[in-house]
Amino acid sequence: MGQGVLTGDPAGLAPGFPRVDGVLHCRGVALDGLARRFGTPLYVYDALGIEARVRHFQETFSGVDFLLAYSVKANGNLAVLNRIGSAGAGADIVSGGELHRALTAGIPASRIVFAGVGKTAREMEDALEAGVHAFHVEGRGELELLESVARRLGSPAPVAIRVNPDVESPTPHEYTRTGHAASKFGVPVSEAMELYRHAHGSSHLRVRGIGAHIGSQIVEVAPYTDALAVLLEMVDELAGEGLELEYLDLGGGFGVGYDGEPGLPLEELADALVPELVRRGLRLVLEPGRSVVGHAGVLLTRIHYVKRSGGKTFVITDGGMTELLRPSHYGGWHRIEPVRIDPKEVREVRPVDVVGPVCETGDFLARGRPLPLPRPGELLAVGTAGAYGFAMASNYNARRRPAEVMVEDGRPLLVRRRETADDLLRGEIVPPRAD
Ligand SMILES: *Cc1c(COP(=O)(O)O)cnc(C)c1O
Repeated sequence: MGQGVLTGDPAGLAPGFPRVDGVLHCRGVALDGLARRFGTPLYVYDALGIEARVRHFQETFSGVDFLLAYSVKANGNLAVLNRIGSAGAGADIVSGGELHRALTAGIPASRIVFAGVGKTAREMEDALEAGVHAFHVEGRGELELLESVARRLGSPAPVAIRVNPDVESPTPHEYTRTGHAASKFGVPVSEAMELYRHAHGSSHLRVRGIGAHIGSQIVEVAPYTDALAVLLEMVDELAGEGLELEYLDLGGGFGVGYDGEPGLPLEELADALVPELVRRGLRLVLEPGRSVVGHAGVLLTRIHYVKRSGGKTFVITDGGMTELLRPSHYGGWHRIEPVRIDPKEVREVRPVDVVGPVCETGDFLARGRPLPLPRPGELLAVGTAGAYGFAMASNYNARRRPAEVMVEDGRPLLVRRRETADDLLRGEIVPPRAD
């Protein structure tokens, strides 16, 4: 505890969100003005930052035929998807709902890969009719169902098997680990080889590629090169049997620095991947979500109350787990800063719990976080909230999901209006009594 002047990180919350004259901005637009105009809690996205990340991936992997299949589940806002698609990227989807979203946003079906462990026949039909790049099949039962759907529609289904390479990926939370043998995702290597042989012999399936996705928020290259080695061994063995694959998909999961530290070094990853793929004439597909949009979004939330209880200081804001679930669900850590700082004012800095209004003890954005003691009515910005932020927002406690604004060319554009009380009732039916 002590007196302090908090100037915040001079770089701001992330590259697109610098502090100018004490106020956080997004590409020249002051965040406090956005909060006044659109209300809080509010998500703000930096369009230029998103496009720059897509281009950065494309340039880093330009040594090989490359498709960035952006993982829609990280942030599926139509405007965000539209800009990502316009930059030449495709999409990685995990449901029929995401297919609808990606197509509506203008992403061509030919650039969409369909992953997910629980695809239904209906979802398969829709994706097959749309003409997706491939189904990433996660098990024998799914391959059989897909084959029967393709037979019925008279249209062979493009497939890749999602392999479980059984590698250890050091993710910060066990819920974000997917590439080990005991996870529900993917097919073990030996079974995957059998599925390839079966698919190769079927006139209703067209084998295109091989894939893996080993987890999320991984900051080391080694787990990827481990997975690559497993997949390449399979690719080579299949080629020996006369089954030539077109592409290799190493998934997403590239970590970002939530506290300003560097994320996964993409150049190092490219150095490891590109020559191996080029040598085999394979196209590379990557499925980043977080690393495309994470830094390009902030959540603005206004302070309702500040109260002391049990020796702790609680800063109660209008945003919590219903707007940003990561802290309570995965123990996710986000940088939090006051939107406006007066450099001449000295405030006590003390550890506070930043909590939302939801009736759950697990409803917090940060715990024990040193902050200059904020006052009711002031605004906080939560950084690196562009991924798994709004996408995981809920209506729990009958909360209206927040508005989303995208700043583009110095203009704030409303890309989703705040939900109304009536939106919350949509679809519900009170049946009349029988008598
Ligand atoms: C979630 C997911 C991704 C994206 O993960 P990020 O950590 O956001 O990059 C990619 N592929 C699949 C199959 C996924 O489930």
